Amino acid sequence: MKPNNTHKINQIIDMLDSITERIDDIEKLLINKNSKVEDWTTAGLTEKEKEYKKEWVCQVCKKSTFETDYDYIVHPKLCLGCALEEELKGNDIKDQYHEASSRLFDETKNKRSTQNKEKMIKN
Ligand SMILES: [Zn+2]
Repeated sequence: MKPNNTHKINQIIDMLDSITERIDDIEKLLINKNSKVEDWTTAGLTEKEKEYKKEWVCQVCKKSTFETDYDYIVHPKLCLGCALEEELKGNDIKDQYHEASSRLFDETKNKRSTQNKEKMIKN
């Protein structure tokens, strides 16, 4: 085994560990018949991640953007598919972005992700 592969292997081990933890949490939900769908989608997430997840919902289709790849969202509150459909209806994508930004959004909590997104749009 090449020594420079050790780092990658450690990363994979870490990933497998966190996946195993999530599976454990899901198993616990399986046992609990009273668990809600809400609990299923947030199984294994930290409290902070759960709060985040609640904010990351598309304003048009109301679907979660939380696990959507960055390439497919315009804003945490606007997915690319909806943005393009709205654009076809004459709704400028920049206006849509600003609308999404003005929605109830805790700026301090999500500042970094919003800044990254703004950077991406400018580029
Ligand atoms: Zn959408």
